[in-house]
Amino acid sequence: MPTTAAPESAGMWAPEVETLDRDALGELQLKRLRTTVRRVLAAQPRGAERLTDAGIAAAEDIRSLEDLRAVGFMTKAELRAAYPFGLFTVPREEIVRIHASSGTHGKPTVVGYTRADLDNWTDLMARCMTTAGVRPGMLVHNANGYGLFTGGFGFHQGAERLGATIAPVSGGFTARQVMMLHDLGGDVLVSTPSYALTIAAAIREAGIDPATLPLRLGLFGGEPWTEQMRDRLDRELCFRAVNFFGLSEMCGPGVAVECVEQRHGLHVNEDHFLTEVIDPEDGRVLAPGAEGELVFTTLTKEALPLVRYRTGDIGRLSTEPCACGRTTARLEGLRGRIDDMVVIRGVNVYPSNIEHLLLSVEGIAPHYRLTVERPDVLDELTLECEAVGRGDEDGRRALAEQIVARLREHMGLRITVLVHEPDSLPRSEGKAIRLVDRRPKA
Ligand code: ZN
Repeated sequence: MPTTAAPESAGMWAPEVETLDRDALGELQLKRLRTTVRRVLAAQPRGAERLTDAGIAAAEDIRSLEDLRAVGFMTKAELRAAYPFGLFTVPREEIVRIHASSGTHGKPTVVGYTRADLDNWTDLMARCMTTAGVRPGMLVHNANGYGLFTGGFGFHQGAERLGATIAPVSGGFTARQVMMLHDLGGDVLVSTPSYALTIAAAIREAGIDPATLPLRLGLFGGEPWTEQMRDRLDRELCFRAVNFFGLSEMCGPGVAVECVEQRHGLHVNEDHFLTEVIDPEDGRVLAPGAEGELVFTTLTKEALPLVRYRTGDIGRLSTEPCACGRTTARLEGLRGRIDDMVVIRGVNVYPSNIEHLLLSVEGIAPHYRLTVERPDVLDELTLECEAVGRGDEDGRRALAEQIVARLREHMGLRITVLVHEPDSLPRSEGKAIRLVDRRPKA
């Protein structure tokens, strides 16, 4: 249901769906789910097999949203196995856009959009950016890479549709980012959180006080980040940092976003994405509020509908009302992917857990890197970070001891911590590499 008109309601792009009564939302989801099921049964053999195995041979066999729980999950491995176009439900000629996720494990995952898919995605991005505080007439400086990565084009389309001015700067060339941000007078910075820190440092190096820039908002996604990182970003760039969540398999960014008023959980666009949280061990659907793996079913996609797609992302779903007035469920406690987790002497560790504790230590810069190795049979983790100022070695050693004590106290974790001089670690120009895995390949 694309909405092209400017929003009447303050801060809402599509108030009629964003404030929909939850029963009515369920009705809408059910209706759209049947359309998705019909499409999968007709044109996606892999997905259809799973539906029929669950006793769903026709769209009408879905009588309630709960009926979906009998259907087996779709995984990223299957998307890769179908590379590049194997799960598409329309002829390739009807696809007007291709994107792909980064192929950290070899081939990337290719996704496609029909004209209607692209229109829906654009509309969702306009909705999300409005939720995040972007208004017509603002200048949006987009430092996300343009290319197969969805982060560049997604924000670009959304900004245009909502009537903002888009500057498609793309990633990299940090000195030029600073010049353009300053000269064009960007109100909104779009990037990964780690790259925003790189830009913030370059702004100061250029002799510019960030407080004198018109920047009001930072729209961030593409990597997990913590509240402590948000505090640093808010302070460094004198704006409000807002969290976006998405994945190319759904559409890219545009799945969920925080409202700028509360910044407490990310409102899911539930009229397009049916969301479940499951126990990653046994696949059981968990109650609202419980932490588990996020599973999405697309409700409006034409080219690549996915039923019960396991994302590998960990989080919680809250259906508590939000003070902003939206009735949509919110994602909370996003802390990265299951694959990012390492087990160190029996303790499950996500890089975001460490970031959370690390950035609460005074005198530590928000740059860090974790290296996991297996010298013998057990995994060993080393945390490298940087001091804020150029102190002496004793000062850095004292900081390291503080971090070691904090990790031990709060996580029961014993790891090696190295505090380096400022500017020792590589800086991010896109997705930060937080975890370097030096373990021998199985
Ligand atoms: Zn809200």
